[in-house]
Amino acid sequence: MPEKTSLRVCGLARIFLVVFSVLVARMAFVQLVIGEDLAERCRDQRALALATMPVRGAIYDRNMRALAGDFKKPAVVVFPGSVKSLESVAGMVAEVAGAPTDRVLSRLSSPAPFLVPAGILSSPAFAATSPAAPYTEALRDPGVVVVEQPVRYDPEGIGAHVIGYVDPSGRHGMSGVEALLDRYLSGEDEAKVAVFTDAKGAPLRGLGVRWLPGKPARAGVRLTIDRDIQALVEQVMDDTIKRGAVVVMDPRSGDVLAMASRPTFRPDDIATAMKDPASPLVNRALSAYPPGSVFKVVVAAAALEAGTASLRDTFHDAGYVDVGGVRFKCHSYEQGGHGDITFLDAMAYSCNTAFIATALRVGAPRLVDLAQRLGLGATTGIALPGEQAGVLPDARSMSPQDVANLAIGQGRITVTPLQVAVMMSAVANGGLVRRPRLVMEIVPSDPSASQMAARTIRPEDPVRVLSEDTCHQLVFMLETVTRWGTGTAAWVAEGGSCGKTGSAETGKVDGTGSPLAHAWFAGFAPLSEPRLVIVVFVEEGMSGGKTAAPVFARIANGALKLYPAAK
Ligand SMILES: [Zn+2]
Repeated sequence: MPEKTSLRVCGLARIFLVVFSVLVARMAFVQLVIGEDLAERCRDQRALALATMPVRGAIYDRNMRALAGDFKKPAVVVFPGSVKSLESVAGMVAEVAGAPTDRVLSRLSSPAPFLVPAGILSSPAFAATSPAAPYTEALRDPGVVVVEQPVRYDPEGIGAHVIGYVDPSGRHGMSGVEALLDRYLSGEDEAKVAVFTDAKGAPLRGLGVRWLPGKPARAGVRLTIDRDIQALVEQVMDDTIKRGAVVVMDPRSGDVLAMASRPTFRPDDIATAMKDPASPLVNRALSAYPPGSVFKVVVAAAALEAGTASLRDTFHDAGYVDVGGVRFKCHSYEQGGHGDITFLDAMAYSCNTAFIATALRVGAPRLVDLAQRLGLGATTGIALPGEQAGVLPDARSMSPQDVANLAIGQGRITVTPLQVAVMMSAVANGGLVRRPRLVMEIVPSDPSASQMAARTIRPEDPVRVLSEDTCHQLVFMLETVTRWGTGTAAWVAEGGSCGKTGSAETGKVDGTGSPLAHAWFAGFAPLSEPRLVIVVFVEEGMSGGKTAAPVFARIANGALKLYPAAK
């Protein structure tokens, strides 16, 4: 209906109300029978929107706790006409809005109520309504109402990279789950913080400030993320990792329990993030990096599957090996090499020489083929925007030097932390590769009216890639890493843990000319019936054993308690 017509209709309704105000029974008829629709429209005319927000479906964690769409921030609504202490109210508004007092005073001289934006109010200066707070007087003024303004994003910013963000209109998802499931989450209506006014614009008594929620979006979504584990991971990362990623996965289901990237951003402040040279918007869990020695897990798996190596095989490491005229050093080079070393200890101490010999024995085709079947070199199917496929070499064109390079996770190979989590999950669950699952369920806003029934997204059928026997031997090898090898800092006292360290050369050097390396630790816990695969990646973290392994242990210790075996 055009605006003019609707105004006219409202005017008519008002006349009706005046004419029949003495005829109580008749008035009741107008209001209840023909008046409902008209009254609704009139109310709309009189509701002054102080703030609006496009309606969007909520994003929940696996236990239906909100990750987006259901948060509140304190805000203040000022009714200039009712303000008693002009000076103290103006002082408070100027302070929390960061505006000059004279401008606030001139705003207060006009009768229309206004809302002071929520973001500013969460500043420490506004330590809310405690009696000791500096603005007690202003907050108690009859012209001031403190409200809880609904906001889409968690003020704590948990899960930013998974959730993603929306465009400036607030209507379209641009990254993360916001983009992936935009067709369900996007709504047409607008929610409003409104105040009801009379014809003169003065607030109507008794109605106060209202939240008008608007027509709900089609659906919300329930993710596999566990909010507590996600919060734990982000807390630990904030303490320890400037740039990097962590993925936590249940190897039995492929459920992604946590995925975090640093540096992070606030979904409600994308403008700041876009200007940041550290690229906080990039989800590093989905970005490809050289795996370094983490790839030795694939080499060992290929050799065990092919029967070309056993744990008791012995290698001799002089600290280096020459392949086709190129010298590959073991990190034991300065100490004169690992000497005679078993295949088992070669994993524990990450001996390059032994793994290069093993890879050459297995051969490029079997190695690259297994890497592929373990999910490397292709996107995982999680379907989040921005996921990289990583790179695998072409087995047909590999020289022995290329194979030697691949054995230690260098050269033409890159992997994402999420891919490594998928790969380690296969080792942990006895050889099955599962597509990672992030979305558990589509939850319609109105299940009775909607044609879209609640849709549970089941994990895909897994594919057997490794034999159980190979996995048992691999787990035994990876346990030596955390018990006495390069990853003892990743040991978990209760239930044990296993995994592999990686320190991958980046090709860059620091200010002193020393080569920069990315640090990895990829493993799982507990040793018996593992339920958590945890991959820790630290950009330029230098040493997997020193930098990434302790982060793994901290996360594992906390997350195992949050995710009991019964789940
Ligand atoms: Zn060695």
